[in-house]
Amino acid sequence: TTTVPPVLDVRDVTVRFAGLTALDAVSLTVEPGTVHAIIGPNGAGKSTCFNVLSGLCRPAAGAVTLGGTELTRLAPHRIAALGVARTFQNIVTTHGTVADNLMLGRHVLTRAGFAATALRLPGAVREQREHLARAREIAELTGLGAHFDSPVALLSYGDRKRVELARALCLEPRVLLLDEPVAGMNAAERARTAEVVSELRAELGLSIVLVEHDMGLVMRLADDVTVLDFGRSIAHGTPDEVRRDPEVLRAYLGT
Ligand code: ADP
Ligand code: MG
Repeated sequence: TTTVPPVLDVRDVTVRFAGLTALDAVSLTVEPGTVHAIIGPNGAGKSTCFNVLSGLCRPAAGAVTLGGTELTRLAPHRIAALGVARTFQNIVTTHGTVADNLMLGRHVLTRAGFAATALRLPGAVREQREHLARAREIAELTGLGAHFDSPVALLSYGDRKRVELARALCLEPRVLLLDEPVAGMNAAERARTAEVVSELRAELGLSIVLVEHDMGLVMRLADDVTVLDFGRSIAHGTPDEVRRDPEVLRAYLGT
């Protein structure tokens, strides 16, 4: 048998904030083309874990590698360029059109310099046209195709939150980190977003790390689940396994 190495390997990561251990020697691996959910009560360390993965937070100990390349000490823009894109828990866009926002997401991939683009040199114009075409495809993939030229301020909350997901996809990531992608959405918007996420995995073969409180969504989308509680990884397994784990029940019920 051949074993496929994990795309993302988080090894014994510890993060401390002035006396508080937000992550305590947490390890997890993300297998290629799978969804790995990180769940746990508020304050468990889920967002901190994403901050480490995206370079916004430097761990006191431990390492993160992406396909064998160590990310641990790289700046956020380097990590993004290597193929790790994220969304934030509480950020939704209010400015510009959907197209504007997605083109901002493509900016990191632009080869032509700023001057060449501003001067509309032929190579730069062609590149911008290609980016626009790809941005349109990503809008279609995320259910925003009909709103491509609409100001995001006019979209429903669910669509606006999905613009963040689309913008992260514009980086052409290998790994997508989604921090509470359906928070605040109504049932129909949640269902639509769940559909989009499973299509992304199926069609783009993306590896996804999902932080989410909606257990229905986690059970439906995740291949693996890691449960954090007070910065410690207390359980790992399939959704069915962790759901029956007594320590997980204890963490959630607070007994
Ligand atoms: P979760 O996303 O699971 O709700 P967080 O990762 O946001 O949890 O937070 C984990 C713990 O670390 C919490 O106790 C939180 O208050 C603390 N924390 C997070 N970020 C900081 C920070 N920048 N400075 C100090 N404490 C922080
Ligand atoms: Mg959080």
